[in-house]
Amino acid sequence: MPLINVHDKSFDIYISEEILQQRIKELAAEINKDYSGKRPLFIAILNGSFMFASDLFKNLSIEAELCFIKLASYKGMKSSGNVVTSIGLEDDLFGKEVIIVEDIVDTGKTLHNFLPKLIHQQPKSMKIATLLHKSEATEFSLKLDYVGFDIPNKFVVGYGLDYDGLGRNLKEIYQVV
Ligand code: 5GP
Repeated sequence: MPLINVHDKSFDIYISEEILQQRIKELAAEINKDYSGKRPLFIAILNGSFMFASDLFKNLSIEAELCFIKLASYKGMKSSGNVVTSIGLEDDLFGKEVIIVEDIVDTGKTLHNFLPKLIHQQPKSMKIATLLHKSEATEFSLKLDYVGFDIPNKFVVGYGLDYDGLGRNLKEIYQVV
C-alpha cells in the first residue's frame, strides 16, 4: 500500500476500512447488549468523532438518541490551566444514560477536564466510547468503557481525524511515518 501525504508529512496505512468497520460492529453489539431496554443519549465530540459516531449509530438496534457538541478550550482566570467548555449541548442530562463518543483519547486531559461539567447535571450513568486510545500517552485517569483500538503513541489521521485540517475524509486510519 503506497504512502499518502498530508501537508508536509507522509503517512502509512495503519487500520484498514474493513477492520475499522468490523470493530465498530463489535462495539455496537456490546452496547446493544449493555443498553438493552434502555434509551441512551450519545454525545459525540466534534470534529473528529463524526465518522465513528455515524458508523457506530448505524449499527445500533436499541433505541438511542444522538447529539454533537464541540469543546472549546480557554485559559481560565486562575492559574489552573485549560478550562474546557462545550458548545451545542441542548439536552438536559438529568436522569439520562449518557455515552460520550470520542475519536481518540491521548493524554486524557480533554475528557478529564470536561466530564465533571456533565456529571454536574446528574445523568443516571455515563460511559465513554472511544475509537482509539493511546494508552502509553495517557496521563489523566479515565475509565474508558468501549475502546476500538489501543494504538502506539504516534500521530494518526483519517476516518474523521485531521492533520491541520486535512485527512478527515480518508476511510482508513493512517500513521505518521
Ligand atoms: P487528549 O486531551 O486526550 O490529550 O487529546 C485529545 C485530542 O487530541 C483528540 O480529541 C484529538 O483532537 C487530538 N489528538 C490526539 N492524538 C491525536 C492523533 O494522533 N491524531 C489526531 N489527528 N489528533 C489527535
